[in-house]
Amino acid sequence: MNDVAPAPTPTTPKIGFVSLGCPKNLTDSELILTQLSAEGYQTAKTFEGADLVIVNTCGFIDDAVRESLDTIGEALAENGKVIVTGCLGAKSGKDGGTLVQDVHPSVLAVTGPHAAQEVMDAVHRNLPKPHDPFLDLVPGAFGAAGIKLTPRHYAYLKISEGCNHRCTFCIIPSMRGDLVSRPVGDVLAEAKALFAGGVKELLVVSQDTSAYGVDLKYRTGFWDGQPVKTRLLELVHKLGEIAEPYGAWVRLHYVYPYPSVDEIVPLMAAGKVLPYLDVPFQHSHPDVLKRMKRPASGEKNLERIERWRAACPEIVIRSTFIAGFPGETEEEFQHLLDFLREAQIDRAGCFAYSDVAGAAANQLPGMLPVALREERRARFMAVAEEVSVAKLQSRVGASMQVLVDHAPGLGRKGGIGRSYADAPEIDGVVHLLPPQKISKQLKVGEFTRAHIVGVQGHDLVAQPV
Ligand code: SF4
Repeated sequence: MNDVAPAPTPTTPKIGFVSLGCPKNLTDSELILTQLSAEGYQTAKTFEGADLVIVNTCGFIDDAVRESLDTIGEALAENGKVIVTGCLGAKSGKDGGTLVQDVHPSVLAVTGPHAAQEVMDAVHRNLPKPHDPFLDLVPGAFGAAGIKLTPRHYAYLKISEGCNHRCTFCIIPSMRGDLVSRPVGDVLAEAKALFAGGVKELLVVSQDTSAYGVDLKYRTGFWDGQPVKTRLLELVHKLGEIAEPYGAWVRLHYVYPYPSVDEIVPLMAAGKVLPYLDVPFQHSHPDVLKRMKRPASGEKNLERIERWRAACPEIVIRSTFIAGFPGETEEEFQHLLDFLREAQIDRAGCFAYSDVAGAAANQLPGMLPVALREERRARFMAVAEEVSVAKLQSRVGASMQVLVDHAPGLGRKGGIGRSYADAPEIDGVVHLLPPQKISKQLKVGEFTRAHIVGVQGHDLVAQPV
């Protein structure tokens, strides 16, 4: 059994995971476990304690086949809900089915090896993703809704769990506890395994990425026999180095605007990591930020953003905001709209404030009527869209590197991808037109250069070259 993440909560769906076979199989397991962990699933130590069991099988020799089939049988007897993946899953059975289904017809799904996407799809069908109030602070309108992405070429890398802050609208620390950073050597080893397994885009996530290592007092760890500090700057540096030979992207999420982030921006300018920062500002007015108890609320965010843009002009900033927070005056809200225009936030999402059970903000004075919160959200989104569309328009005529997410028939009829400015699922996409050259093919998980020819809502339209 493998552990995904600590401290399950009573409502968290739990998955039992058995990984059999060779190191390649183990890499597949890590990929699936990383994805499960990023989505908030936990692991169970026993079959009975799980809501569902995944068995990653081996089919190399008869003994391995027997062991795999026995393990599936055991999981079915003790749990009942079983998904099978791995080499044995690829072995055909009678009547066009699989060998696994011939022996164990009640399994929920069977996939072959290297099929993280299909496994995740089967998990979602049978055990829905837990609600994550933090990740869910993102409006669906910006996502690539309905598009089937293939996470084999991108993966989330969780660098820490929990959070030391106590934002008044958030209950994450009460569910997940204080910040616990993963050892830097483990994080880098996982990154390397993911790249070696075919990942072309690594998405660094946590509740507070900038705070990485604070709990460990930035202790020095080891990677590849060399000392590395448990600190974001060193981590990002190393991730960039590890990604380089694979030609892969590294993207940072949930970065708070602490002064230390200024040191990361030159790494973006130097191409070590993507010039993309996901900074959840939530508001701009210092008094609202204080009521929210936001980290870095005293920072001069506008000046900071200007400095980032001066150091790295291509930087793209995504952020989320809350409109109608308790006590928010019209003047404070206007401050937020001005900030949005001046900071030129490339991708902004906004939620109308709503109570979260157990959050301190519920007790704050000055609760606004729901209609007013919604009205402010709509006004915010109108400005956000203006800014975002103008920024997208300015890309027309440029040539960009695009990671292909979807390309049926090798892209003969075009496909869908993303540039460095678009994180999967939360930002826009690049609609790729059919290539003009007959010899040009689009392959999922590979990069193509594309010439931007137009804007379509929050997306770009591009001609692969
Ligand atoms: S920084 Fe604030 S919003 Fe983010 S997880 Fe911590 S307490 Fe919640």
